Amino acid sequence: MRSILAASALAVLLTGCSGVESNDNHGYGYAYDLSSPDGTRLRNLPGSLELSQADFEDLIAEPYRATETCAQIVTGGPLVVAVIMDETGYATIGRGNTFLDTGLIRATPQSILDSRYYAGNPATGRLAGTSTLRHEFIHYLLAISGFPEDLNASHQSPLFKECSGL
Ligand SMILES: [Zn+2]
Repeated sequence: MRSILAASALAVLLTGCSGVESNDNHGYGYAYDLSSPDGTRLRNLPGSLELSQADFEDLIAEPYRATETCAQIVTGGPLVVAVIMDETGYATIGRGNTFLDTGLIRATPQSILDSRYYAGNPATGRLAGTSTLRHEFIHYLLAISGFPEDLNASHQSPLFKECSGL
């Protein structure tokens, strides 16, 4: 009986549509719906945001590359999970957050859609406005580069202001 249960649990784990499924990563696993060659990935939770590949490139993958350029930290892109927000435009997580241990970013659909308006300077990647999504990308890039977690969590890097406006 025990082995039948184990086998069916494994089958559930293996039925994700793409990506490598996992049983953790803060409860989100590692599956994704869309990806770019640099490794930036998006998972849409049911009822959240459904993007085409072109919209994913415009709203997430390109702003991510611009943020890398601005920060001068180049690495593989993050996994972004689009979560459901409430009627105020905020989710219980706020507009976005980043898990510094695994690099997982959660963002509301509004935060993702807002990045359309802030393409930034193509040469420097710098931004005239503010972008929650880019703010989360900075958390991610600092975490990947080994910046101390406490300083990252308390925004003790000029890259937040320079590259995301907040
Ligand atoms: Zn922050």
